[in-house]
Amino acid sequence: MKGDKPHIVIVGSFVTDLVFRAPRRPHRGETLIGLEFGLFTGGKGYNQAVAAARMGAKTSMVGRLGTDLFGDMFMRSLEKEGIDARHVVRDPEVGTGVASPVIYESENDNSIILMPRANMRLSPADVDAARDVIAQADVLLLQLEVPVETSLHAAEIARKNGATVVWNPAPARELPKEVFGMIDILTPNEVEAGQLTGIPTGDDAGARAAARKLREMGTGRVILTLGARGALMFGPEGETEVPAYKVKVVDPTAAGDAFCGGLAVALARGQSIADTVKYANAAGAYAVTVLGAEPSMPSAEQVERMLKGEAK
Ligand code: ADP
Repeated sequence: MKGDKPHIVIVGSFVTDLVFRAPRRPHRGETLIGLEFGLFTGGKGYNQAVAAARMGAKTSMVGRLGTDLFGDMFMRSLEKEGIDARHVVRDPEVGTGVASPVIYESENDNSIILMPRANMRLSPADVDAARDVIAQADVLLLQLEVPVETSLHAAEIARKNGATVVWNPAPARELPKEVFGMIDILTPNEVEAGQLTGIPTGDDAGARAAARKLREMGTGRVILTLGARGALMFGPEGETEVPAYKVKVVDPTAAGDAFCGGLAVALARGQSIADTVKYANAAGAYAVTVLGAEPSMPSAEQVERMLKGEAK
């Protein structure tokens, strides 16, 4: 730890979720009256920043918002969560990222339209403006909802200054080869590990083969998340299973974000890799017990209760 508190910098996305619940999928050309509507602050970068801040880290976010009402909403939320927003840029030309998930009640199905908007204009120059903050970080936490060259630039600055680079490759897309050598810890789920390597990950053997390949591609450590089965660590010391906590599943949304936030916090505190993954599993487990994304990011106390087996 460089300072008196673990310090995490997230270079990542903001997405306002406009969630609709409908009785069924509308027919072509039909206007269907819905059942419910909700407006939520989200995006993988923002969710992971909220998780890190709630678990007790000094948290700074580098990202782009529009100069619209959704952008204002995020600025208020960042302040409320105690997240440093000095390097959040307001884009005068392009609006805040939005997504419209629709849940179709009778079909037990959903679909999402995502517009990244300002997120895709986060530039290496924006990262340069935050260079001092990134240099002070213990952990830099990245995802794949902003341009890869911007994330890569942040990773270079972090590594030069002795920060650990944690990259959550979600949502998965093809990555340039040089990315893998810049990653200390990669945290894919099974699907993402498959997409990054081209290896089918439908079974345990496939998932393990994909994780091994990701290490061969240059990644320091791979921590594969397996939902209710916990996580698998692949590092220089070998392969270790870290079991999940037994909880009642209410909504698995953003379990991966809570996991990554927890991982970054424990790592920044200087905990061993085994304890770090245990902590991350507890954070992920808490997230599945609560409906929604932001509301399910746990506090340090909630994770401690999970670790002690007091939470169900
Ligand atoms: P993602 O949300 O990115 O798809 P996973 O589903 O693998 O990722 O979940 C991330 C982590 O959250 C898991 O490694 C685990 O620690 C925790 N988790 C997810 N689902 C459950 C569950 N049903 N029970 C306990 N822990 C869970």
